[in-house]
Amino acid sequence: MLDAQIKDALIRIVGQQNYTDSLIDMVSYSYDASEHRARPSCAVWVENTAQVSEVMKLADREKIPVTPRGAGTGLSGLSVPAHAGIVMDLTRMNKILELRIEDRLAVVQPGLVYADLEKALAPHGFFFPPDPSSGKVCTMGGTVGTNAGGVKGAKYGTTRDYVLGLEVVLADGRIMRTGGKTIKNVSGYDLTRLFVASEGTLGIITEIALKINPKPTVTTTAMASFNDLEDAGRAVSEVMRSGILPSVLEILGRETILAINQNTDLKLPEVDALLLAETDGYTKTETEFQMETVLEVFRRNNPGMVKLATSPEEAAQLWTARKSAYAVLARIKSHFVLEDVTVPIGKVPALLKGIQAIAKKHEIQIATFGHAGDGNLHPQILYDGYDPEQVRRMEAASDELFKLAIELEGTLTGEHGIGLSKARYMTLEHDAVSLEMMRTIKRAFDPNNILNPGKMALDAA
Ligand SMILES: Cc1cc2nc3c(=O)[nH]c(=O)nc-3n(C[C@H](O)[C@H](O)[C@H](O)COP(=O)(O)OP(=O)(O)OC[C@H]3O[C@@H](n4cnc5c(N)ncnc54)[C@H](O)[C@@H]3O)c2cc1C
Repeated sequence: MLDAQIKDALIRIVGQQNYTDSLIDMVSYSYDASEHRARPSCAVWVENTAQVSEVMKLADREKIPVTPRGAGTGLSGLSVPAHAGIVMDLTRMNKILELRIEDRLAVVQPGLVYADLEKALAPHGFFFPPDPSSGKVCTMGGTVGTNAGGVKGAKYGTTRDYVLGLEVVLADGRIMRTGGKTIKNVSGYDLTRLFVASEGTLGIITEIALKINPKPTVTTTAMASFNDLEDAGRAVSEVMRSGILPSVLEILGRETILAINQNTDLKLPEVDALLLAETDGYTKTETEFQMETVLEVFRRNNPGMVKLATSPEEAAQLWTARKSAYAVLARIKSHFVLEDVTVPIGKVPALLKGIQAIAKKHEIQIATFGHAGDGNLHPQILYDGYDPEQVRRMEAASDELFKLAIELEGTLTGEHGIGLSKARYMTLEHDAVSLEMMRTIKRAFDPNNILNPGKMALDAA
């Protein structure tokens, strides 16, 4: 519970209608899409930068934690208010402020839903490429706060590659602008990038200037099955060095395929791996040329079947398997952890084999799918959270998974962030000097440690 005077001060800033400490709201704000839970003391819906600034001035003076929140779809305990305090909900700051197609520029507020940006860009033939699968609900602030990516990462990169500038409210309420509205900008330190994937620990993002791309008008889709993981892995590596860049190169592992077959009528071949490829471009010739290169690679790596979609309906059918993976797997056991370890592309086969070995060793089900084209896999550990023995095995398997990723020159997370879930693994990936530099940066921006405290191992001594 907050002191009555602080509550009154918050209400004076945001208005009675934009303040809540009701139990139902506190429970709603206690979670994101991970297993973590912690209730805040109150929540405010902010409507403009001035309000954000005033709330931060008050919170800093009174040393009250503030957790910025978009749609709360984070998968690592990101917007969960670990140290209670104020949840700052930014979803009402949801406008597109500028759309300047000739400048390849969109300036948006952080609460804008990703899909609403896509809708606004579509009539101009433009798009914002990162494409997280949560795009129908997640916000642009959360997308920047996590550096979200998606199935098109191999060709188009992630959110980081498109953020040109930001308006940020700092922990003490000061308002800062970073970067600008130009495609090129090397003026001073790159503070913009520092805020991308900072998980709300350095400041509240109140405005985002984004680079946008002309949307490819033609796509071609194909799928291939492989009885042997080695063959699938070699096919991925060969596609990526073939001289073309597919817009999508996704993989589904055996456990995932079996789960999809058990829960749908898709009747996928029950093999070690399925690869889904898409090429895109602005003419049919160019797109088909790229796909022919992909198919040649598939054919020389002992596929069980290779299927090229000949109509948009067939392409949609091939996509159904990939799109249903997360939802199907989420139904199998009472609990799951969705990881997103990432390795250099050539090490995807070793990662897949290692995941199989870890599942066997710990007698736990791990179903894998993910973005083979950029080395980012999603091993989904399925377990019964009410059975302490299964929880123990899930944790042991997670530990080994992260160690494996680092041994393979990879990272703990390619998309979903560190948050609470992976904070204790930070020392596996980052040396003591680099961790100390991160903590120094955190202290410089937020000396009272009020911004989303408890995350990213930044609080550790
Ligand atoms: C079904 C599902 C599919 C998903 N698919 C993908 C995927 O394909 N790729 C991917 O990368 N992720 C994916 N995610 C994870 C997540 O949805 C994305 O990272 C998403 O962009 C987060 O947006 P959000 O609005 O929900 O942010 P939240 O979860 O509310 O916040 C995420 C982080 O950003 C911070 N934050 C939010 N707004 C601000 C702000 N204005 N200023 C400063 N910090 C802020 C929060 O404090 C928090 O640390 C998925 C999640 C789900 C549940």
